[in-house]
Amino acid sequence: MVPLEAGAGPDNPPCPACGEPLFGWIDPRAGLAGAVRRCESCGLGVVGDPDGAEDALRDLDAATDGETIAIVNRAGFAAWVGGAGWAGLDPGARHLYTAEAVRRLVAHRDQVVGAARWAPGAGIATMWQTVLNGFTFGRNVALGALGRGRAAPAERAWQRRMDAAISFVVAIPALLFALPMELIAAACRRGGALRMRVELL
Ligand SMILES: [Zn+2]
Repeated sequence: MVPLEAGAGPDNPPCPACGEPLFGWIDPRAGLAGAVRRCESCGLGVVGDPDGAEDALRDLDAATDGETIAIVNRAGFAAWVGGAGWAGLDPGARHLYTAEAVRRLVAHRDQVVGAARWAPGAGIATMWQTVLNGFTFGRNVALGALGRGRAAPAERAWQRRMDAAISFVVAIPALLFALPMELIAAACRRGGALRMRVELL
């Protein structure tokens, strides 16, 4: 086995959460601020160039409501099967978290989080939209239309019209496929969305 440190270099900046080198994952595309790199140690994904733990923590605060942190899970099954079509690649997203990445990040400010619990609604929605993204020109069209996220619409008007029609026609079949997939993923602890509680020491 090659030690991970061997990969460190300008193309492989350190992970904001754990310091291991980041590796290329997804090429830049419409709706993303840059190429996406991922950490093979804690699983954190970073869109564009990483800007350190502070930046990743600030971003995480936006996903925190009181003592609950809600994330779309980059270590989930949906991210693995979806790749570039994964619904977690929300336009404007900077950091793509995993339970381990959150644990490492909050440790930077002496916080501890409890066990990650599967968030069924968000998990099923993520798997569903990931499946739909396989059929459309744009991405996250359905969730965008439902007001549950931002869409990366297709470039041309006819493609956007097609996407609206496709999303409507495929919505139910995609759900019938996504629902058991996500249930299996959750049973294997690879759910698409997680909730974690910040624990006070
Ligand atoms: Zn990491």
